[in-house]
Amino acid sequence: MSKLMNKVALVTGASKGIGASIATYFAAEGAKVVVNYASSKAGADQVVQAITASGGTAIAVQGDVSNPADVKRLFEATKEAFGRLDILVNNAGIYIYEPIEQVSAETFQQQFNINVLGSILTIQESLKLFGEEGGSILNISSGASRMPIPMGSVYSATKTALDALTIALSKEFAGRKIRINSILPGSVETEGTHAAGFSGSDFEKNLIAHTPLGRIGQPEDIARVAVFLASDDAAWITGEKISVSGGIYGL
Ligand code: NAP
Repeated sequence: MSKLMNKVALVTGASKGIGASIATYFAAEGAKVVVNYASSKAGADQVVQAITASGGTAIAVQGDVSNPADVKRLFEATKEAFGRLDILVNNAGIYIYEPIEQVSAETFQQQFNINVLGSILTIQESLKLFGEEGGSILNISSGASRMPIPMGSVYSATKTALDALTIALSKEFAGRKIRINSILPGSVETEGTHAAGFSGSDFEKNLIAHTPLGRIGQPEDIARVAVFLASDDAAWITGEKISVSGGIYGL
């Protein structure tokens, strides 16, 4: 049986990369999906088209997760289209790699506003749409939270902050049937890692050499785990930080 049948899911940053794969896998498991994006309308439309061509249901909704008015509009559009929400995936995120000397108020704010404030804003709005059956929230964190990376000090700090939200809110949501978990991906090949110059770099080769399963991840490696965590199969899992990293970030 499809694991997410009749559920409504909202995936932020789903126009490409890990988010696009999560949206596609969720739809294949029967969820109706809101595909959020910031600027890549064409990418989001392509994800929606692929889902509908396979018999699924999805809509694309623009919205910058760090902008409170946009987030309100995003959830209003979700309510209007599907009437409810069962699953929220906070996937939208940016990574800026720079030595500490180059970190500026601007790059700090960009990363914290999208990676942390954005997740807070979406969680606040999701609470208004989850029904009496509760809901499931997934925060797409990073292995950089467990093992902060040089040149990525601020990015790592955003993901550690996100994981702190996961743990605190799992307790705050006690009794409301709302589960919240973090997925900590290892290095995953996406449009973002290509744009950042990681893919094919010495940095990536070094990571592969230290990865027990001996390869870089693909978006579907994360999407399959997201399906499990969002589904009722994970009914007794909340407040967890789950590494999906080929073993490199395992504890
Ligand atoms: P990506 O390929 O760069 O895609 C990023 C997505 O986030 C795009 O859909 C983008 O939309 C969206 N986005 C960016 N800023 C946004 C905003 N302000 N509001 C709404 N959406 C926004 O990224 P990725 O590599 O798939 O990474 C996805 C998540 O996984 C991030 O949180 C990242 O930190 C985490 N992660 C990635 C890796 C990795 O190796 N790839 C490893 C660990 C963790 P537009 O295209 O419209 O801008």
